[in-house]
Amino acid sequence: MSTATTLRNAPDALRRGACPSIAAPMRTGDGLLVRLRPVAPALSARDLIALADLARRHGNGLIEITARGNLQLRGLTEAGVPQLAEGLRKAGIVPQTGVAVEIPPLSGIDPSEIADAVPLAEALRATLAAAALPLAPKLAIVVDGGGVLALADMVADIRLDAVSTAGRVRWRLSIGGDRLTAKPVALLLPEEVVSGVMTLAAALAAQGPTARGRDLDAAALAATFAATPAPTLAGLTRRHPLGAHRIGDRTVLGIAPAYGQMRAERLAALAEGLSACGATAFRLAPHRTLLVCGLSDDTLISAQACADREGFWHREDAPGRTVSICAGAAGCASGAFDTRAAADTLASEAGALLDGSVAVHISGCPKGCAHPAAAALTLSGTAAGVGLVLNGRAGDTPAATLPAAGLTPAIGRLAALLRARRTEGETAKNLFDRIPPAELVSAYQGRS
Ligand code: SF4
Repeated sequence: MSTATTLRNAPDALRRGACPSIAAPMRTGDGLLVRLRPVAPALSARDLIALADLARRHGNGLIEITARGNLQLRGLTEAGVPQLAEGLRKAGIVPQTGVAVEIPPLSGIDPSEIADAVPLAEALRATLAAAALPLAPKLAIVVDGGGVLALADMVADIRLDAVSTAGRVRWRLSIGGDRLTAKPVALLLPEEVVSGVMTLAAALAAQGPTARGRDLDAAALAATFAATPAPTLAGLTRRHPLGAHRIGDRTVLGIAPAYGQMRAERLAALAEGLSACGATAFRLAPHRTLLVCGLSDDTLISAQACADREGFWHREDAPGRTVSICAGAAGCASGAFDTRAAADTLASEAGALLDGSVAVHISGCPKGCAHPAAAALTLSGTAAGVGLVLNGRAGDTPAATLPAAGLTPAIGRLAALLRARRTEGETAKNLFDRIPPAELVSAYQGRS
């Protein structure tokens, strides 16, 4: 069956909440959106140039890297989707299909990792594909072998964390959370891991095709495993992938397109420019980041200059790195305002305050494509203007709404309030927690 036929016959695939892919693109205000993650952990400059070319020819040329490190191509037509699939095939880029099995971006090349997650992830993908269980479309499995850019803060339905005990690697199996919050189920030997995950997958399938890790009973499942009880894991120092990292004797530079969005031509120019700086491979990473491998201390500065030139961030403290935005009016027919301009204003006025301890979301419409979860502060476009939502989602009822023309001064007033009320060294989370919502609403409305 062709992809176009699949689209016509499967309206569920276009529903919000389904997971967009080449087989099931999601309709947004700028056409169809395809999310993909290549099977290969590393891409070449030629792969990036091919992706840019495909995004231009079959979509509207806007490419995004998501918070979980997936690529999104936007603005495709129904006819363009099978052409994209064919173009990827010709370029030798194979997208992952089936259940998302995520691994640290430097798996296999980071000497500080406890275990290489690649072979285990491949075995899991193959076993899950063969079993063809009716699992939730957004189900995510994280296989975290540790290392400099471990996936400690990535929430998953099923997690595997590598643990080194008495010189032997074991995997802690847990459900429904990140490294600290997931509920432990068992501590498994490597040879027990695939069957352990399949036990949980079968339990999810038995609950129905929408069941998620949080729906499982961890204690009951733990009792079914004749394994060592799973330990509680310590937290890890969180390292943002943006910036320069020393990985063994290599230098890896984490760069990010501003707000996760780039034009195809900038991506192609970036790939060519970094290639000339000695970059040999590119790895998609969480927090909308692209890791550039193959640089040396000597070429790092020219690589950073290239990233600057093409509109990519490369510093861990880049203002705006914690703000999620969607295409907005500049790239999506549903967008009520220019989300990028609003984010730039917020970043320049309050970038230093936004330390990543709270989520900030700027959404062109209530659909909330860029950040489906709740955020401490959301600006959401509606027919009536731009709504301010506090501790909620883009689709929630705004606490106040202003015409889009009044947004820039309103952001300035909010930023001024935050700057004035923040004590030295205070986190954004603490600040948002203690400022009464009414004060934020008054500032937004210009009544304070
Ligand atoms: S949230 Fe943004 S990208 Fe998604 S449909 Fe609305 S305006 Fe378009």
